[in-house]
Amino acid sequence: MDYKFIKDSNITDRIFKREFKNRDGFMFNDIVTIYFTVKCLHCGQTFSADEMRVAKTGSREYEVLCKNAPECDGNIEDMIPLSEFEYLR
Ligand SMILES: [Zn+2]
Repeated sequence: MDYKFIKDSNITDRIFKREFKNRDGFMFNDIVTIYFTVKCLHCGQTFSADEMRVAKTGSREYEVLCKNAPECDGNIEDMIPLSEFEYLR
């Protein structure tokens, strides 16, 4: 798929909040930043959840993808939340 990535952090923060809100293990500070780290099941890399990429897939549709998209095809479903403790080990 030919992704159109969103770079505006005002938009990506809003999409992150919407998409991660109902997922177990993800938490936000008072603004919108996700402060959990994730591990991508596809490429195996660990990174901050807010480093994920947001792609526009329709007029009002967005998809949250692995930081390594489009090389990695992991999406929000493939991200395992890690606590900071687990991340540091
Ligand atoms: Zn990945």
